[in-house]
Amino acid sequence: MKKINDNIDRSWIDKTIRPFVISGPCSAENENQMIFTAKKLNSPFIKAFRSGIWKPRTKPGNFEGVGKKGLIWMKNVKKMTGLMTATEVANEEHTNLCISFDVDILWIGARSTASPFTIQEIAESLQENKNKIVLLKNPIHPDMDLWMGAVERFYNKGIKKLGLIHRGFYTYKSLKYRNQPNWKMLLEVKKILPRIPIFCDPSHICGKKEGISEVAKKAYYYFNCEGLMIETHFDPKNAWSDAKQQITPEHLSKMLEFFISSKKEDLKETTLNLFRTLIDELDENILSIISERMSLSKDLGSFKKSLDIMVLQPNRLKSIMHKYINMGKNLEIREEFIKKFFKLLHEESMRIQNKIRN
Ligand code: PEP
Ligand code: MN
Repeated sequence: MKKINDNIDRSWIDKTIRPFVISGPCSAENENQMIFTAKKLNSPFIKAFRSGIWKPRTKPGNFEGVGKKGLIWMKNVKKMTGLMTATEVANEEHTNLCISFDVDILWIGARSTASPFTIQEIAESLQENKNKIVLLKNPIHPDMDLWMGAVERFYNKGIKKLGLIHRGFYTYKSLKYRNQPNWKMLLEVKKILPRIPIFCDPSHICGKKEGISEVAKKAYYYFNCEGLMIETHFDPKNAWSDAKQQITPEHLSKMLEFFISSKKEDLKETTLNLFRTLIDELDENILSIISERMSLSKDLGSFKKSLDIMVLQPNRLKSIMHKYINMGKNLEIREEFIKKFFKLLHEESMRIQNKIRN
């Protein structure tokens, strides 16, 4: 990947202040919504207007985007505001339409990055337009090869204005986020492609308004994200998609003031906070897993009650302790710690089961 890294064309982002912010609605709905929203986007950091023209919905039956006519509205937004425009493309037809409507930034959605055929098709359809900026969202699941492979496919077709978007990853049950961020993976990406511009999409990470600002700051200050993609809508609660996570343009402007007024932390403080962010993220995952674990204990308690089985099965405790102590050896976790930890976990599980049984 070294050759790719050396040849990434950063000219479009190097000239601007950071963070380079792309903002606008999740979906284009009508021309007024686009223009109202765009006109209220007011911050020196906002360089591009986003809106989804074709929406990849996980399940059928939801709003799937306005299609081609949205590109006309987007072109008008560009004319009125001077902002660059950005949208998601998922096939050759979308790409060709975006080219003919002069969209500046094409992004590849998380579901598409996971599909090599789709990536290949889009890369090939840019043959006559190698100058487009292409931003690749991370695939739904944290598969580094798939993400980097998509970069390679575009690079191999001569597209060099490439960037990445961290929009978080699917987890079966998430405590806090819609899509779990993986900051550690971003650090690894930085090692593979140190020059590639990385954006963060706190809207799709959080899935709600709360937390967007915090994630944006972490991304920018601790994980070298040079850009942010944040969804805005002039009337978020009536948005046709992702209503919970869209904020008003006014809210965004206020949020971005932080990047003007805040003093940069020194290296010691930044590094300390980087480690703390990584650790907090893991601790939050541990909490989420414990909660799932205890909910299983509840179900087990009911099952034991229905069959009149004793809650405490001493052999079971002995055998799991033995198993985890052995596993811990390979993981460099001390026996003492494993004993204390699983004893605590087991006691709590007994308490829950007994409460149900009695
Ligand atoms: C979006 O940006 O509106 C979108 C659908 O994003 P993602 O591909 O990250 O789900
Ligand atoms: Mn969205």
